[in-house]
Formats: sequence, C-alpha cells, structure tokens
Amino acid sequence: MSETKLREDICWQAASIFNRGMTGGASGNISVRTEDGGLLVTPTGSSFGRLDPARLSRFDAAGNHIGGDKPTKEMPLHAAFYETRRSAGAVVHLHSTHSVALSMLPETDPDNMLPPLTAYSIMRLGKVKLLPYFRPGDPAMGDAVRGLAGKRSAVVLANHGPVVASKDLEAAVYAMEELEETAKLAILLRGANAVHLTHEQITDVVTKFEVDWD
Ligand SMILES: [Zn+2]
Repeated sequence: MSETKLREDICWQAASIFNRGMTGGASGNISVRTEDGGLLVTPTGSSFGRLDPARLSRFDAAGNHIGGDKPTKEMPLHAAFYETRRSAGAVVHLHSTHSVALSMLPETDPDNMLPPLTAYSIMRLGKVKLLPYFRPGDPAMGDAVRGLAGKRSAVVLANHGPVVASKDLEAAVYAMEELEETAKLAILLRGANAVHLTHEQITDVVTKFEVDWD
C-alpha cells in the first residue's frame, strides 16, 4: 500500500473511532508499518477526531524520527509489539470505556480477560492479557509487553486501556472493536448468569480458525 494511502487510512480510521466515542480528547494512538520497514505514528497531543495525514510522525527502519510531529508518549508500547511479534503491521491503543471498566473488576481473569461470550472475540483476539497499571509514559509498560514474548496480540493496561496488534491497520481496528464490544457485553451481563460458550464450542473455534490459545 502506498504511503499516501496509509496516511489517509490512519486518519480515516482514527476519526471513525473518535466519532463512535471509543476514545476521547487527545487519547489513543495508532502506528502502522510502512513498505520500507519504517513506521507512521499518530503525534503526541493529537485528537483522533482531526488528524492531519501530512503531520503523522514518520520513522525509518532503524527507528529514527525522520519527519512529521513528535510521536505519542506511548511509543514504548508500540515498539514492544513490533519487537516481539514479527507479524505485526499495525498497533492500535485506545482509552475505551468498557475495556477499562472490565480491567477494574475483581472477577476479571488477568490471563484471559474476556468471558467466552462470542466466537468472534476468540477468533480475532485469542486470550486477552490484563497487564498491571503503569504511570502514563512509563517505559515499564513496554517491558511488560516484551515479557509476553510475542504470545499475545491483545492486552489491556489496567485502569488505562487496550492495545491490539495485527497484520494491518484494518485487522487491528476490527480486533479492537471486538475487544471493546465484548467487554461491553461482559459489563452489561455482569451478575446475570449469562450463557457462555461451552468448553467444546471454544475448542471448536480455536481448532477451526487456528487461534493461538496458549
Ligand atoms: Zn493510553
């Protein structure tokens, strides 16, 4: 995909996320791999509602900032995913309400945050890991992602927000939407004794769609 198209897609997807109330103010950030092995990253302090394609931060393949505005302070999160998951072509991070709410509930399983409510959340996300709380910009959040050794494509930082890596921007956004919607279902159904997928149904989805479910 041409860099011009990538830049337009980042701004279009970000505006769509903003307009649906999935991340507000200047929160959230996106990075996407370019054909030359570099990165395009949303700038620090920028709102998803009005990104300028020409001002996205541009990095070369060696990680040098070569153009555009200063990148997001949450760059260590993105770098950790690219370092540990060779298949990663895009990383999306939001401050989305329901995922954050779920990160704070005592019954949430830190190793597999989402209850098995729908097949699509399992297909698109695998097991979602709950990571501890970190002060904004703390490089330790990157170390926490590195500690997963590339085994997870989706994590939620407690009391902060989700981070999803996928092969390209569209897949990462779709996976993020699935995470937020499943967290919303989990919150809506809290205490309602809702019907979950059975162990057999989960195994069937994991096998059929070759989901990484370790
Ligand atoms: Zn954040």
